[in-house]
Amino acid sequence: MSDVTTDPRLTVCAAAATGGPVSELVAPRTVRLGTSTEVRRLLPSLGRRMVGAWCFVDHYGPDEVAAEPGMQVAPHPHIGLQTVSWLLSGEVHHRDSLGSSALVRAGELGLMTAGRGIAHSEQSPEPHSPVLHGAQLWVALPGRERAVAPRFEHHTDLPTLTTGGAALTVLLGEVGGAASPGRTHSPIVGADVVLRGRASIPLVRDFEYAVLTVAGAPEVDGREVGPGTLLYLGTDRAELPVAGEGRFLLLGGEPFAEELVMWWNFVGRSGEEVARARADWQAELLGGTPRFGEVSGFEGDPLHAPELPPTPLRPRGRER
Ligand code: MN
Repeated sequence: MSDVTTDPRLTVCAAAATGGPVSELVAPRTVRLGTSTEVRRLLPSLGRRMVGAWCFVDHYGPDEVAAEPGMQVAPHPHIGLQTVSWLLSGEVHHRDSLGSSALVRAGELGLMTAGRGIAHSEQSPEPHSPVLHGAQLWVALPGRERAVAPRFEHHTDLPTLTTGGAALTVLLGEVGGAASPGRTHSPIVGADVVLRGRASIPLVRDFEYAVLTVAGAPEVDGREVGPGTLLYLGTDRAELPVAGEGRFLLLGGEPFAEELVMWWNFVGRSGEEVARARADWQAELLGGTPRFGEVSGFEGDPLHAPELPPTPLRPRGRER
């Protein structure tokens, strides 16, 4: 998915101060993508920029799309990040400038590593399932690996783990010995958890964690977390007690030590790096030297980058 807000403000992800276990609710803010799609953005938020290397979390749906076009995101570029496409229901057709063409269904992992640059499109196929529900997540690449060669992975058979009343599917990283085949670049974890009853989910003390409820209202660490809400949990926990009924994403990782510049669909370390990526994309749309490449098979025009903000893009601390 693309961040297509018309006025994307500069956002900076900075190292989180880690003070052990906390319990901090983050309410979603509604963001309109294009003309019809509304998503709920959990990260970055005013008080919380990142959880581990997770630096962008959008939750969308469930939306009735039987009589609608569904998701229609035209080709757009990325650098410095991985996109994690996770559908709870429905399916999305991914195409990218490497030539990938994959129908990613609910329960399958679409993992695109942008590295030094890639372009992709995401579309509901025709025909498509009546309900579209999912999460679009970004993982920041660490500085030394932020310019790796782009790649796309489609994993249709992810490892699962059952503990108490919790059935986990591991998207990235490892939980209780179940390890995802998705390639990662920093210590990180992501899991989809379907909960029916009580469970204690094994955690890693060095990681910070958050839970995003996508259905129901499970009790997490003794606190009810309603649908579309994120609960930040901090670090230094060996396990996470959960109870009730619902479904949530568990996101975690080693606190990310580097400051980032996030603007539009780019994650960089400096305003210059991001401005260059923008200029390269715009030049490419006018027939310039390809850096990102063409997304073949997509009918329609690619997205243009918005104007850069009037103030220089700079990496800053945790404050906006
Ligand atoms: Mn995208």
